[in-house]
Amino acid sequence: MARSGAGGIGGRMAALARAAAAAARPDTRPGARPATEARKEEALFLDPPGVRVALRRSARARRFTLSVSRVDGAPHLTLPQRASVAEALDFLTRQAGWLEAAMARVPPERVVAPGRALPFRGGSVVLTLRPSGPRRAPTLENGRLMVSGPAAEAPQRAMSFVKETARAELVPAARAYAARLGREAGPITLRDTRSRWGSCASSGALSFSWRLAMAPPDVLDYVAAHEAAHLVEMNHGPDFWALVDGLRPDWRECRDWLRRHGPELHRVRFAPPAS
Ligand SMILES: [Zn+2]
Repeated sequence: MARSGAGGIGGRMAALARAAAAAARPDTRPGARPATEARKEEALFLDPPGVRVALRRSARARRFTLSVSRVDGAPHLTLPQRASVAEALDFLTRQAGWLEAAMARVPPERVVAPGRALPFRGGSVVLTLRPSGPRRAPTLENGRLMVSGPAAEAPQRAMSFVKETARAELVPAARAYAARLGREAGPITLRDTRSRWGSCASSGALSFSWRLAMAPPDVLDYVAAHEAAHLVEMNHGPDFWALVDGLRPDWRECRDWLRRHGPELHRVRFAPPAS
């Protein structure tokens, strides 16, 4: 993407003009959302770098916060309730360089479909349709994930398989680590969390991202150990890391793997694109 004077006068004025036009003219295209909903989905077009930034007004926000979604790579700006569109645009214009760099770091989306590889246990497997016949549970055969049923359902079946694998590995691992620390884990749930790979509530309930089944088994196991250690130390202080070190001396490599490759796992999309 060309950087033609990000933050420069020309680009800023062009963006301002567009924003003013967008704010003044109600969207009357067929199928446009009602005005009340459209207001909630206010957006600005920043050019350069040529991106649409969704605006989220927040009663709690005291300042502007620009971020890029880990889910779909889309940028959004949180702004205080009373901030003006011109102020938002001014902030965005100053952050154009940061935004461009942040968006360039988002890994490409990887759509799961028959015939394509998807990450699994640190490697990859090719999603493959079984020849027609009685429906069977998905199985792994020579690097292929074999699923029954119509092609359109294959991504969902692959997702179920990934989730079941995560559950089958994370639950016993977390319970075993908890037992080694003399604790008992509460209920364990699997979710599609975006900001954390696992969490531990003060009640002892543990939660994990099922996407960990796509990471190397050691990394999944480390997250189980990490959350089990929170049953003893509800913080990330030196005592906590000493416990983790006792369970998984290679925790640093595992943590680094997640930092480096975790975003790629979040970009794997199992559902067919909504039309
Ligand atoms: Zn933690």
